[in-house]
Amino acid sequence: MPNKVLVVEDEANLLVALKYNLNSEGYDVFTAEDGEAGLALARREKPDVVILDVMLPKLDGFEVCRILRRESDVRIIMLTARGEEIDRVVGLELGADDYVTKPFSNRELMARVRNMLRRSTSDGPSASSGAETLASGDLVVDLTGHTVTLQDQPLDVKPREFSLLALLVANKGRAFTRDQILERLWGHDYIGDTRTVDVHIRWLREKIEPDPATPQRIKTIRGVGYRFDG
Ligand code: CA
Repeated sequence: MPNKVLVVEDEANLLVALKYNLNSEGYDVFTAEDGEAGLALARREKPDVVILDVMLPKLDGFEVCRILRRESDVRIIMLTARGEEIDRVVGLELGADDYVTKPFSNRELMARVRNMLRRSTSDGPSASSGAETLASGDLVVDLTGHTVTLQDQPLDVKPREFSLLALLVANKGRAFTRDQILERLWGHDYIGDTRTVDVHIRWLREKIEPDPATPQRIKTIRGVGYRFDG
């Protein structure tokens, strides 16, 4: 069965070109021109890969990505245009698997799609490779497979815990305020309080700290927030 690829992009010309190119590669291609339609199509067709533009009508790509990630393990490639968008995508808070900066070449994007599909079929911890893996001692965060292992044992982490851990480990030694963490993981529009962050930190500590009562890895920085020390 051909792999399914969903493209969510509001630039009609680009959408047509992407559909043509992906069809030529043998994929089943579905397209949507706004975030809401994209989300609905993703739920209905359960694609293997979603190519998701950031700036979209109705629901932007960040929001679509966040929702999709909560619901499934679908591979998501974000199409980003501006530096600020790239920062957010790379910041991992969204759980996107990869990103491509506009303007991009067709060849580059097709290579990324193939890569995503290869990764999703060859799972297993040994498939993790250099740049997509964050390691600190016996703790390994696999950004591609969205898995965490401690002393080679897989940990059961929820998507939000994963994003939080990835953020902290990727920025080892840097302290984050609760507000910064909230904004990165839950988005600007999140209505809630910073205790949400504390709760997720506690859950993570229970999973990765030898003694969660005296944490060595995720330190509480009084008056600031949290910092991953290693
Ligand atoms: Ca757009």
